[in-house]
Amino acid sequence: MANGFGSDEPSTTTPAEALLMHRAAALDAAFGKADVPARVSGIVAEANGRVVFTTSFGLEDQVLTHFIATAKLPVTFATLDTGRLFPEVYALWQETEERYGILIRPYYPRHDTLELHVRQNGINGFYASRDARKSCCDIRKVEPLGRALAGADIWLTGLRADQSAARGGVKLAEADAARGLVKASPLIDWSRERALAFAQQNDVPVNPLHAQGFVSIGCQPCTRAIRPGESERAGRWWWEDDAAKECGLHVGQDGKLARAQAAPAEARA
Ligand code: SF4
Repeated sequence: MANGFGSDEPSTTTPAEALLMHRAAALDAAFGKADVPARVSGIVAEANGRVVFTTSFGLEDQVLTHFIATAKLPVTFATLDTGRLFPEVYALWQETEERYGILIRPYYPRHDTLELHVRQNGINGFYASRDARKSCCDIRKVEPLGRALAGADIWLTGLRADQSAARGGVKLAEADAARGLVKASPLIDWSRERALAFAQQNDVPVNPLHAQGFVSIGCQPCTRAIRPGESERAGRWWWEDDAAKECGLHVGQDGKLARAQAAPAEARA
């Protein structure tokens, strides 16, 4: 029997996944051409449950924090404290809470898992192999992210499409079937220059490391400043020569960056 995608293979899409895809496509259609305040407020208004915004205090996250906080939207702010962040990040965390009168909920790695990992790999074992690096990211970021998003209906992120080639196909709203939610990135079509100009014009606090060439800022031992002509994410895990470097937060079960999927015909309105 045809599955609606031009193939006779039976569809493996569950009704729950189809509903998520339909909701993501509807949000994309409704707010894809809107400005960011209308996108954020519209997406939050369409939520059927908790909306969580995960921030790592990068430029885009700070701009999105500004939009959410100044509109006083019912959004939970969350961050992943890996224990290996730059001192500037902790200072910006406090400054952001004070500037906007918000509390940003921290999520930490499971101490027993992390203790075992460090015992087995060393405190900086992530340099030794890609597996060790991914294991560290899984423990310090991916597992805590799962707890931060547990029970959420919509996940807001500060992703931009032009941050790297791997992020080029990301849409405003996507179905995240593995987590059972819709992931929305209201700054998806912004450039870095536009985000920077907005931050300067609106007195948005930003990380002083950006002015020193640190564009995408993650954990301190795994981030360096980029050189002229390098891609924005070239400073992350720079010792790994791979075009698609991600920590796993935005990666699907197939190991690729999570992509929007077309809504099955039967799920379209
Ligand atoms: S970015 Fe580096 S220190 Fe941070 S979790 Fe990943 S491997 Fe570990």
